[in-house]
Amino acid sequence: MPAASLIAVAPVVDGQLNDAVGILKMLIEVTVFAVIIYMVLRFLRETRGSGVVRGLALLLGGALISFLILIETLKLERLGWLFSAIAQSVVLGLVVVFHPEIRRAIVHLGDAPFFGRFFRSDSKIVPRLLRAVARMSKERIGALIAIEREASLSELTENGITIDAELNSYLIESIFYPKSALHDGGVVVRDDRIVAASCLFPLSQNPEVDKRLGTRHRAALGLSEETDALVLVVSEETGKISTAQAGKLNFDLSLEQLEQQLEEMLGRRQAA
Ligand code: ATP
Ligand code: MG
Repeated sequence: MPAASLIAVAPVVDGQLNDAVGILKMLIEVTVFAVIIYMVLRFLRETRGSGVVRGLALLLGGALISFLILIETLKLERLGWLFSAIAQSVVLGLVVVFHPEIRRAIVHLGDAPFFGRFFRSDSKIVPRLLRAVARMSKERIGALIAIEREASLSELTENGITIDAELNSYLIESIFYPKSALHDGGVVVRDDRIVAASCLFPLSQNPEVDKRLGTRHRAALGLSEETDALVLVVSEETGKISTAQAGKLNFDLSLEQLEQQLEEMLGRRQAA
């Protein structure tokens, strides 16, 4: 090829390379953006009873993005500077406000199938809960225990009696012991701690629920309809063990079935 035509081709190749780099950059940006939006939406979905907060966050997010695009296209440098200064404080504020949720999200990273391999935690709550439930079932001590998952149960614990103690089977049994001042109502468990006792759970209004089931079972079902919590029930009348999850009551479970459900829910094998 003559030298003159090589020189003519060079800018074309260069231009194509630039185009490819540009497209690659755009793809990376779009992917990062999509991942951030996905994570924010997931986070908001899992925050219980926060319809207004969710709506506001979406509205704010939308407004922020439109504003950013406007600043970029019109090259409004001073406004851009002001905006980035404000944005930093807003992000810091959000981290402070949502720190309990963020902390929990990080703790629960280990539950995700992918991360689970790297962050396997040996929670001891399954054997401890099983021991307590087995004894309470045998003694016919009524119990109601909600295990918090992604959706926060803070609203319930605010109306109960704060405990904030490491979960152990004796403490659970003492709480539900019929003469205990705390035995009425439900216990809320978060990670490996008992957060509160004597909490009032929302009663299920489902008309199809067996009429023979009393309020303890209806409260378990009601909470499972509103949140993703797993709720354990021990019947005072029969000693039968049941769980409620996603609006479904699993009645009269064996200890083995309960263990299986707990382990599946926590997404990891428990240390004995
Ligand atoms: P059991 O088989 O143990 O008798 P049950 O489903 O028949 O259970 P009840 O006999 O009505 O239910 O149980 C009443 C107890 O359930 C109350 O003493 C209280 O501890 C608990 N309970 C009732 N309603 C609620 C509620 N909304 N939130 C939390 N606990 C509740
Ligand atoms: Mg009853």
